[in-house]
Amino acid sequence: MLRKNRLFTPGPTPLLPAAQTAMASFTAHHRTADFKALFQHVLADMKDFVGTKNDVLVLACSGTGMMEAAVSNLTSPGDKVLVLTAGKFGERWTGLAKAFGCNPDVLSAPYGETFSLNDIRARVAPEVRAVFVQATESSTGARHDVEGIAKIVREHGDETLLVVDAITGLGTTHLNVDGWGVDMIIGGSQKALMMPPGLAYCGVSERAWKRMDTTTSPRYYFDLRKERKSAAKGETAYTPATSLFAAMGAALEYIRGMGNGDLAKGREALVNNAELCAEMTRAGAKALGLKLFAASPAAALTAITAPDGLDSGKIVKEFRESFDAVVANGQGEMKGKIFRIAHIGYYDYLDTIGILGALEHVLARLAETRVEYGAAVRAAQEVYARTQFGKRQLVGA
Ligand SMILES: *Cc1c(COP(=O)(O)O)cnc(C)c1O
Repeated sequence: MLRKNRLFTPGPTPLLPAAQTAMASFTAHHRTADFKALFQHVLADMKDFVGTKNDVLVLACSGTGMMEAAVSNLTSPGDKVLVLTAGKFGERWTGLAKAFGCNPDVLSAPYGETFSLNDIRARVAPEVRAVFVQATESSTGARHDVEGIAKIVREHGDETLLVVDAITGLGTTHLNVDGWGVDMIIGGSQKALMMPPGLAYCGVSERAWKRMDTTTSPRYYFDLRKERKSAAKGETAYTPATSLFAAMGAALEYIRGMGNGDLAKGREALVNNAELCAEMTRAGAKALGLKLFAASPAAALTAITAPDGLDSGKIVKEFRESFDAVVANGQGEMKGKIFRIAHIGYYDYLDTIGILGALEHVLARLAETRVEYGAAVRAAQEVYARTQFGKRQLVGA
């Protein structure tokens, strides 16, 4: 059968056609009125997408570049920081903190799990300069309680900053950035914004800007103060990724359309979309007797444990070979044990039903147990019918 290449990976994610066209046709030089207008429009819209009144900056780098900017701008060598880690991306914070000479206190939860707020409360103290965490840990599919963590950090006033890698959290998770008091929130273009890799962005609180006056870690390209000064004049410090800004503008316009002209409402609709795709996928996987890997699953992606004795790499390969669908294997120690299906950004009902139908065939070919065709799809249909139409049963009533 004909096969269409489809990404179900937690970044890069499927591209919005309007974003692709916008970037393909964009030619303006970056020091022109045309680019300045686009740049200012995008930065203003990004505040609504992030859901903050604070300044949002966009840099040409992958998400990790902005994670590095958080560490280099907000800490000094020797600073005590708290890293909350429960997966590969949490471990990245530890690596970054060490690379910049911080003294990280690492609070880890097992892969697939999240943190106990009491453990966090016991470790946050005024001398802890910053707390680093993920909103959603893309390597395990776990959702962390950013609101609960923020509450604990804010109990310590302005001494401790909270930095959230929301690279797969933004656009998939309801985050009250200003209300909870998140000091730096980080996103990447290749996730819920439905555009190619190459841009990362951040929202920065006044507390965090103030911290930058006294920190001494080395930084140059990633000096956020310099970028903020330029942005205030409608410019970037260095050559921006102009065509990616065009794509970003188109993506934000699309999300605004999802909110009938209101970008903040569009963001909420995008989050609800991911939540529904995720709920359908979880129901489908469970109906096939599969176990979810994460105890508190994120809407960004669903991590599913491979059946006993079956390497998840075989599942990933079968998805690709039979359906040209790209799902993600586990990373590091989770490789071979789990596979991950993303719901970040440009996924709809048909994508979700389709990947579950494919999952039934993949398991039927590879697993020891008998697969009842339609079981996963049926469970997903019921979730969809209940949430969209308020009906308990769609099939087999
Ligand atoms: C994708 C991702 C990143 C960034 O990775 P890059 O490859 O540098 O873009 C960081 N954190 C999380 C949670 C992610 O999902």
